[in-house]
Amino acid sequence: MTEGRKRVYTAIQPTNNLTIGNYAGTITRWQSLQRDYDCIFAVANMHAITVRQEPAELRQRTLSLVALYLACGVDPEKTVVYVQSHVPCHAELCWALNAFTYVGEMERMTQFKDKSAKHADNINMGLMDYPVLMAADILLYGSDFVPVGEDQRQHLEIARDIAVRFNNLFSPTFTVPEGLFGKVGAKINDLQEPTKKMSKSCENPNGSVFLTDGKDEIMRKFKRAVTDSEACVRFDPASKPGVSNLLSIYSVFADKTIEEAEKQFQGVGYGEFKLAVGEAVADKITPIREEQTRLLSDKGYLESVMKDGAERAYGIARRTLSKVYKKIGFYQI
Ligand code: ATP
Ligand code: MG
Repeated sequence: MTEGRKRVYTAIQPTNNLTIGNYAGTITRWQSLQRDYDCIFAVANMHAITVRQEPAELRQRTLSLVALYLACGVDPEKTVVYVQSHVPCHAELCWALNAFTYVGEMERMTQFKDKSAKHADNINMGLMDYPVLMAADILLYGSDFVPVGEDQRQHLEIARDIAVRFNNLFSPTFTVPEGLFGKVGAKINDLQEPTKKMSKSCENPNGSVFLTDGKDEIMRKFKRAVTDSEACVRFDPASKPGVSNLLSIYSVFADKTIEEAEKQFQGVGYGEFKLAVGEAVADKITPIREEQTRLLSDKGYLESVMKDGAERAYGIARRTLSKVYKKIGFYQI
Protein backbone atom coordinates (compact mmCIF):
# COMPACT_ATOMS: atom_id res chain seq x y z
CA MET A 1 0.00 0.00 0.00
CA THR A 2 1.28 3.46 -0.89
CA GLU A 3 1.13 6.27 1.63
CA GLY A 4 -1.20 9.04 0.47
CA ARG A 5 -2.95 6.97 -2.21
CA LYS A 6 -6.72 6.60 -1.87
CA ARG A 7 -7.96 3.17 -0.87
CA VAL A 8 -10.77 1.11 -2.33
CA TYR A 9 -12.37 -1.77 -0.43
CA THR A 10 -14.92 -4.29 -1.59
CA ALA A 11 -16.06 -7.83 -0.82
CA ILE A 12 -18.34 -10.54 -2.17
CA GLN A 13 -19.87 -13.41 -0.21
CA PRO A 14 -19.05 -16.96 -1.34
CA THR A 15 -22.75 -17.83 -1.01
CA ASN A 16 -23.27 -19.30 -4.47
CA ASN A 17 -21.93 -18.91 -7.96
CA LEU A 18 -21.72 -15.25 -8.88
CA THR A 19 -24.35 -13.65 -11.11
CA ILE A 20 -24.05 -11.08 -13.85
CA GLY A 21 -25.59 -8.72 -11.25
CA ASN A 22 -22.49 -9.06 -9.05
CA TYR A 23 -20.35 -8.52 -12.12
CA ALA A 24 -22.26 -5.40 -13.23
CA GLY A 25 -22.59 -3.95 -9.73
CA THR A 26 -18.96 -4.17 -8.72
CA ILE A 27 -16.51 -6.46 -10.60
CA THR A 28 -16.78 -4.64 -13.93
CA ARG A 29 -15.06 -1.61 -12.37
CA TRP A 30 -12.26 -3.44 -10.58
CA GLN A 31 -9.65 -3.31 -13.32
CA SER A 32 -9.80 0.44 -13.74
CA LEU A 33 -9.97 1.02 -9.97
CA GLN A 34 -6.88 -1.10 -9.59
CA ARG A 35 -4.96 1.29 -11.83
CA ASP A 36 -5.88 4.42 -9.87
CA TYR A 37 -6.15 3.28 -6.27
CA ASP A 38 -4.77 0.90 -3.68
CA CYS A 39 -7.34 -1.88 -3.66
CA ILE A 40 -8.33 -4.44 -1.07
CA PHE A 41 -10.73 -7.15 -2.25
CA ALA A 42 -12.09 -9.69 0.22
CA VAL A 43 -14.01 -12.93 0.07
CA ALA A 44 -16.64 -12.36 2.75
CA ASN A 45 -17.07 -15.87 4.17
CA MET A 46 -17.94 -14.52 7.63
CA HIS A 47 -20.92 -12.70 6.14
CA ALA A 48 -21.89 -15.84 4.24
CA ILE A 49 -22.66 -17.88 7.37
CA THR A 50 -25.49 -15.50 8.33
CA VAL A 51 -27.52 -17.77 6.04
CA ARG A 52 -27.08 -21.57 6.36
CA GLN A 53 -24.24 -22.90 4.22
CA GLU A 54 -23.11 -26.41 3.50
CA PRO A 55 -19.55 -26.40 4.97
CA ALA A 56 -17.82 -28.29 2.15
CA GLU A 57 -19.47 -26.05 -0.41
CA LEU A 58 -18.57 -22.89 1.46
CA ARG A 59 -14.94 -24.01 1.56
CA GLN A 60 -14.88 -24.79 -2.18
CA ARG A 61 -16.68 -21.57 -3.12
CA THR A 62 -14.14 -19.56 -1.17
CA LEU A 63 -11.37 -20.96 -3.35
CA SER A 64 -13.49 -20.50 -6.51
CA LEU A 65 -14.12 -16.87 -5.66
CA VAL A 66 -10.43 -16.16 -5.21
CA ALA A 67 -9.86 -17.77 -8.63
CA LEU A 68 -12.65 -15.68 -10.09
CA TYR A 69 -11.17 -12.44 -8.77
CA LEU A 70 -7.91 -13.26 -10.51
CA ALA A 71 -9.72 -14.41 -13.67
CA CYS A 72 -11.46 -11.02 -13.79
CA GLY A 73 -8.08 -9.29 -13.99
CA VAL A 74 -7.34 -8.58 -10.34
CA ASP A 75 -3.57 -8.54 -9.96
CA PRO A 76 -2.59 -9.99 -6.56
CA GLU A 77 0.79 -8.26 -6.76
CA LYS A 78 -0.92 -4.88 -6.68
CA THR A 79 -4.19 -5.61 -4.95
CA VAL A 80 -4.67 -7.28 -1.59
CA VAL A 81 -6.86 -10.35 -2.20
CA TYR A 82 -7.78 -12.17 0.98
CA VAL A 83 -10.37 -14.22 2.82
CA GLN A 84 -12.18 -12.42 5.64
CA SER A 85 -11.88 -15.19 8.25
CA HIS A 86 -8.09 -15.23 7.82
CA VAL A 87 -7.90 -11.79 9.46
CA PRO A 88 -9.32 -11.99 13.01
CA CYS A 89 -9.51 -8.18 13.29
CA HIS A 90 -12.88 -8.20 11.47
CA ALA A 91 -14.62 -10.06 14.27
CA GLU A 92 -12.82 -8.00 16.88
CA LEU A 93 -13.70 -4.61 15.43
CA CYS A 94 -17.25 -5.78 14.78
CA TRP A 95 -17.62 -6.55 18.47
CA ALA A 96 -16.32 -3.15 19.50
CA LEU A 97 -18.55 -1.35 16.99
CA ASN A 98 -21.57 -3.31 18.19
CA ALA A 99 -21.38 -1.24 21.34
CA PHE A 100 -21.78 1.91 19.25
CA THR A 101 -24.64 0.71 17.07
CA TYR A 102 -28.32 0.72 18.02
CA VAL A 103 -30.64 -2.24 17.71
CA GLY A 104 -33.26 0.01 16.11
CA GLU A 105 -30.85 0.96 13.33
CA MET A 106 -30.26 -2.67 12.48
CA GLU A 107 -33.93 -3.65 12.64
CA ARG A 108 -34.87 -1.20 9.92
CA MET A 109 -32.27 -2.42 7.38
CA THR A 110 -33.95 -3.57 4.16
CA GLN A 111 -31.60 -6.53 3.68
CA PHE A 112 -32.30 -7.73 7.24
CA LYS A 113 -36.04 -7.53 6.61
CA ASP A 114 -35.78 -9.25 3.20
CA LYS A 115 -33.51 -12.04 4.39
CA SER A 116 -35.54 -12.54 7.58
CA ALA A 117 -38.64 -13.03 5.45
CA LYS A 118 -36.78 -15.44 3.17
CA HIS A 119 -35.22 -17.44 6.04
CA ALA A 120 -37.98 -17.14 8.66
CA ASP A 121 -36.71 -20.28 10.41
CA ASN A 122 -33.26 -18.80 10.93
CA ILE A 123 -33.36 -15.12 11.87
CA ASN A 124 -30.03 -15.24 13.65
CA MET A 125 -28.03 -12.49 15.38
CA GLY A 126 -25.44 -12.58 12.60
CA LEU A 127 -28.05 -11.65 10.02
CA MET A 128 -28.98 -8.62 12.06
CA ASP A 129 -25.35 -7.74 12.76
CA TYR A 130 -24.33 -8.01 9.10
CA PRO A 131 -24.06 -4.21 8.58
CA VAL A 132 -21.80 -3.80 11.64
CA LEU A 133 -19.44 -6.49 10.36
CA MET A 134 -19.50 -4.76 6.98
CA ALA A 135 -18.69 -1.43 8.67
CA ALA A 136 -15.77 -3.15 10.44
CA ASP A 137 -14.52 -4.55 7.11
CA ILE A 138 -14.46 -1.15 5.48
CA LEU A 139 -13.22 0.90 8.43
CA LEU A 140 -10.33 -1.43 9.30
CA TYR A 141 -8.57 -0.50 6.07
CA GLY A 142 -9.07 3.26 6.15
CA SER A 143 -11.07 2.83 2.94
CA ASP A 144 -11.95 5.97 1.01
CA PHE A 145 -14.19 4.32 -1.58
CA VAL A 146 -16.39 1.25 -1.67
CA PRO A 147 -17.65 0.07 -5.09
CA VAL A 148 -20.92 -1.74 -4.47
CA GLY A 149 -24.30 -2.24 -6.07
CA GLU A 150 -27.33 -0.11 -5.20
CA ASP A 151 -28.57 -2.83 -2.79
CA GLN A 152 -25.68 -2.03 -0.43
CA ARG A 153 -26.29 1.74 -0.30
CA GLN A 154 -28.12 1.55 3.03
CA HIS A 155 -25.34 -0.52 4.63
CA LEU A 156 -22.77 1.93 3.42
CA GLU A 157 -24.71 4.80 5.00
CA ILE A 158 -24.70 2.93 8.32
CA ALA A 159 -20.94 2.34 8.05
CA ARG A 160 -20.52 6.09 7.58
CA ASP A 161 -22.81 6.84 10.54
CA ILE A 162 -20.89 4.47 12.79
CA ALA A 163 -17.55 5.99 11.72
CA VAL A 164 -18.75 9.54 12.34
CA ARG A 165 -20.29 8.58 15.68
CA PHE A 166 -17.06 6.95 16.86
CA ASN A 167 -14.92 9.85 15.62
CA ASN A 168 -17.16 12.33 17.47
CA LEU A 169 -17.24 10.32 20.70
CA PHE A 170 -13.47 9.90 20.82
CA SER A 171 -11.29 11.66 18.25
CA PRO A 172 -10.79 11.23 14.48
CA THR A 173 -10.03 7.53 14.07
CA PHE A 174 -11.83 6.25 11.00
CA THR A 175 -11.82 7.49 7.42
CA VAL A 176 -15.48 8.08 6.52
CA PRO A 177 -15.98 5.95 3.37
CA GLU A 178 -17.88 6.89 0.24
CA GLY A 179 -19.84 4.48 -1.91
CA LEU A 180 -18.96 4.19 -5.58
CA PHE A 181 -22.13 3.34 -7.46
CA GLY A 182 -22.04 2.61 -11.18
CA LYS A 183 -24.07 4.77 -13.56
CA VAL A 184 -25.57 1.70 -15.16
CA GLY A 185 -25.60 -1.82 -13.82
CA ALA A 186 -25.77 -0.77 -10.15
CA LYS A 187 -28.95 -2.79 -9.92
CA ILE A 188 -29.49 -5.68 -12.28
CA ASN A 189 -32.87 -7.29 -11.82
CA ASP A 190 -34.12 -10.84 -12.06
CA LEU A 191 -34.92 -11.96 -15.64
CA GLN A 192 -38.17 -13.57 -14.56
CA GLU A 193 -39.25 -10.96 -12.01
CA PRO A 194 -37.70 -7.77 -13.37
CA THR A 195 -38.78 -5.58 -10.46
CA LYS A 196 -36.67 -7.67 -8.03
CA LYS A 197 -32.89 -7.62 -7.68
CA MET A 198 -31.01 -10.53 -9.25
CA SER A 199 -29.42 -12.51 -6.40
CA LYS A 200 -26.96 -15.36 -6.16
CA SER A 201 -29.21 -17.05 -3.66
CA CYS A 202 -32.46 -16.80 -5.59
CA GLU A 203 -34.67 -19.88 -5.93
CA ASN A 204 -35.70 -19.50 -9.57
CA PRO A 205 -32.65 -20.57 -11.62
CA ASN A 206 -34.08 -18.98 -14.78
CA GLY A 207 -34.09 -15.55 -13.18
CA SER A 208 -30.35 -15.33 -12.55
CA VAL A 209 -27.51 -15.72 -15.03
CA PHE A 210 -24.42 -17.13 -13.36
CA LEU A 211 -20.85 -16.46 -14.37
CA THR A 212 -20.45 -20.26 -14.50
CA ASP A 213 -23.27 -20.71 -17.06
CA GLY A 214 -22.27 -22.02 -20.48
CA LYS A 215 -23.36 -20.24 -23.65
CA ASP A 216 -26.39 -22.47 -24.32
CA GLU A 217 -27.62 -21.92 -20.79
CA ILE A 218 -27.14 -18.17 -21.09
CA MET A 219 -29.01 -17.98 -24.41
CA ARG A 220 -31.85 -20.11 -23.05
CA LYS A 221 -32.28 -17.82 -20.02
CA PHE A 222 -32.29 -14.66 -22.11
CA LYS A 223 -34.77 -16.13 -24.61
CA ARG A 224 -37.15 -16.71 -21.69
CA ALA A 225 -36.62 -13.30 -20.09
CA VAL A 226 -39.83 -11.47 -19.24
CA THR A 227 -40.52 -8.38 -21.40
CA ASP A 228 -43.83 -6.63 -22.22
CA SER A 229 -46.30 -6.31 -25.07
CA GLU A 230 -45.26 -2.94 -26.48
CA ALA A 231 -42.64 -4.39 -28.87
CA CYS A 232 -40.34 -1.38 -28.58
CA VAL A 233 -36.81 -1.45 -27.11
CA ARG A 234 -36.92 1.63 -24.92
CA PHE A 235 -35.42 2.42 -21.48
CA ASP A 236 -38.24 3.11 -19.05
CA PRO A 237 -37.75 1.16 -15.80
CA ALA A 238 -41.12 2.18 -14.32
CA SER A 239 -43.35 0.94 -17.12
CA LYS A 240 -40.95 -1.43 -18.94
CA PRO A 241 -38.90 -3.11 -16.18
CA GLY A 242 -38.00 -6.22 -18.20
CA VAL A 243 -36.79 -4.45 -21.35
CA SER A 244 -35.01 -1.74 -19.31
CA ASN A 245 -33.20 -4.40 -17.30
CA LEU A 246 -32.06 -6.10 -20.53
CA LEU A 247 -30.85 -2.73 -21.83
CA SER A 248 -28.85 -2.18 -18.62
CA ILE A 249 -27.30 -5.63 -18.95
CA TYR A 250 -26.45 -5.02 -22.61
CA SER A 251 -24.96 -1.64 -21.75
CA VAL A 252 -22.59 -3.18 -19.18
CA PHE A 253 -21.61 -6.25 -21.19
CA ALA A 254 -21.29 -4.58 -24.62
CA ASP A 255 -19.64 -1.43 -23.19
CA LYS A 256 -22.26 0.90 -24.66
CA THR A 257 -24.37 3.65 -23.16
CA ILE A 258 -28.11 3.10 -22.75
CA GLU A 259 -28.76 5.68 -25.51
CA GLU A 260 -26.40 3.90 -27.91
CA ALA A 261 -28.11 0.60 -27.13
CA GLU A 262 -31.60 2.09 -27.62
CA LYS A 263 -30.55 3.47 -31.00
CA GLN A 264 -28.98 0.16 -32.04
CA PHE A 265 -32.19 -1.76 -31.31
CA GLN A 266 -34.63 0.73 -32.82
CA GLY A 267 -37.22 -1.23 -34.79
CA VAL A 268 -35.67 -4.57 -33.76
CA GLY A 269 -38.00 -7.27 -32.39
CA TYR A 270 -37.68 -8.56 -28.81
CA GLY A 271 -36.56 -12.00 -30.00
CA GLU A 272 -33.54 -10.61 -31.82
CA PHE A 273 -32.85 -8.09 -29.03
CA LYS A 274 -32.74 -10.83 -26.38
CA LEU A 275 -30.34 -12.89 -28.48
CA ALA A 276 -28.01 -9.89 -28.82
CA VAL A 277 -28.03 -9.35 -25.05
CA GLY A 278 -27.26 -13.05 -24.48
CA GLU A 279 -24.41 -12.95 -27.01
CA ALA A 280 -22.85 -9.89 -25.34
CA VAL A 281 -23.01 -11.57 -21.93
CA ALA A 282 -21.60 -14.87 -23.22
CA ASP A 283 -18.76 -13.11 -25.07
CA LYS A 284 -17.67 -11.35 -21.90
CA ILE A 285 -17.98 -14.16 -19.41
CA THR A 286 -16.76 -17.18 -21.40
CA PRO A 287 -13.06 -16.22 -21.20
CA ILE A 288 -13.46 -15.42 -17.49
CA ARG A 289 -14.99 -18.83 -16.82
CA GLU A 290 -12.21 -20.56 -18.76
CA GLU A 291 -9.50 -18.67 -16.88
CA GLN A 292 -11.18 -19.43 -13.55
CA THR A 293 -11.21 -23.16 -14.38
CA ARG A 294 -7.54 -23.01 -15.32
CA LEU A 295 -6.63 -21.25 -12.05
CA LEU A 296 -8.64 -23.72 -9.99
CA SER A 297 -6.38 -26.51 -11.15
CA ASP A 298 -3.51 -24.83 -9.27
CA LYS A 299 -4.66 -24.86 -5.67
CA GLY A 300 -1.12 -24.25 -4.38
CA TYR A 301 -0.93 -20.95 -6.22
CA LEU A 302 -4.38 -19.83 -5.03
CA GLU A 303 -3.46 -20.66 -1.44
CA SER A 304 -0.26 -18.66 -1.74
CA VAL A 305 -2.29 -15.68 -2.96
CA MET A 306 -4.68 -16.03 0.02
CA LYS A 307 -1.82 -16.34 2.47
CA ASP A 308 0.07 -13.34 1.16
CA GLY A 309 -3.17 -11.32 1.02
CA ALA A 310 -4.08 -12.24 4.59
CA GLU A 311 -0.67 -11.14 5.86
CA ARG A 312 -0.84 -7.81 4.09
CA ALA A 313 -4.46 -7.23 5.17
CA TYR A 314 -3.63 -8.14 8.77
CA GLY A 315 -0.79 -5.60 8.84
CA ILE A 316 -3.17 -2.77 8.00
CA ALA A 317 -6.15 -4.00 10.01
CA ARG A 318 -4.18 -4.61 13.20
CA ARG A 319 -2.97 -1.00 13.31
CA THR A 320 -6.52 0.34 13.09
CA LEU A 321 -7.75 -2.10 15.73
CA SER A 322 -4.98 -1.09 18.14
CA LYS A 323 -5.97 2.56 17.76
CA VAL A 324 -9.58 1.70 18.48
CA TYR A 325 -8.69 -0.40 21.53
CA LYS A 326 -6.58 2.42 22.92
CA LYS A 327 -9.32 4.99 22.45
CA ILE A 328 -12.06 2.94 24.05
CA GLY A 329 -9.88 2.18 27.06
CA PHE A 330 -8.78 -1.42 26.56
CA TYR A 331 -5.64 -1.99 28.62
CA GLN A 332 -2.71 -2.48 26.23
CA ILE A 333 0.19 -4.80 27.11
P1 ATP B 1 -26.80 -12.97 -1.66
O1 ATP B 1 -28.13 -13.27 -2.29
O2 ATP B 1 -26.13 -14.16 -1.07
O3 ATP B 1 -26.83 -11.78 -0.74
P2 ATP B 1 -25.82 -11.23 -3.76
O4 ATP B 1 -26.06 -11.58 -5.19
O5 ATP B 1 -26.64 -10.15 -3.16
O6 ATP B 1 -25.89 -12.58 -2.91
P3 ATP B 1 -23.45 -10.23 -2.39
O7 ATP B 1 -22.27 -11.10 -2.12
O8 ATP B 1 -24.39 -9.95 -1.26
O9 ATP B 1 -24.28 -10.86 -3.62
O10 ATP B 1 -22.95 -8.86 -2.99
C1 ATP B 1 -21.74 -8.74 -3.73
C2 ATP B 1 -21.73 -7.46 -4.51
O11 ATP B 1 -22.62 -7.55 -5.63
C3 ATP B 1 -22.16 -6.21 -3.74
O12 ATP B 1 -21.35 -5.13 -4.14
C4 ATP B 1 -23.58 -5.99 -4.18
O13 ATP B 1 -23.97 -4.62 -4.06
C5 ATP B 1 -23.50 -6.43 -5.65
N1 ATP B 1 -24.78 -6.87 -6.16
C6 ATP B 1 -25.51 -7.92 -5.70
N2 ATP B 1 -26.61 -8.08 -6.44
C7 ATP B 1 -26.58 -7.11 -7.40
C8 ATP B 1 -27.45 -6.77 -8.49
N3 ATP B 1 -28.57 -7.44 -8.71
N4 ATP B 1 -27.11 -5.72 -9.29
C9 ATP B 1 -25.96 -5.04 -9.07
N5 ATP B 1 -25.10 -5.31 -8.06
C10 ATP B 1 -25.40 -6.34 -7.24
MG1 MG C 1 -26.45 -9.67 -1.07
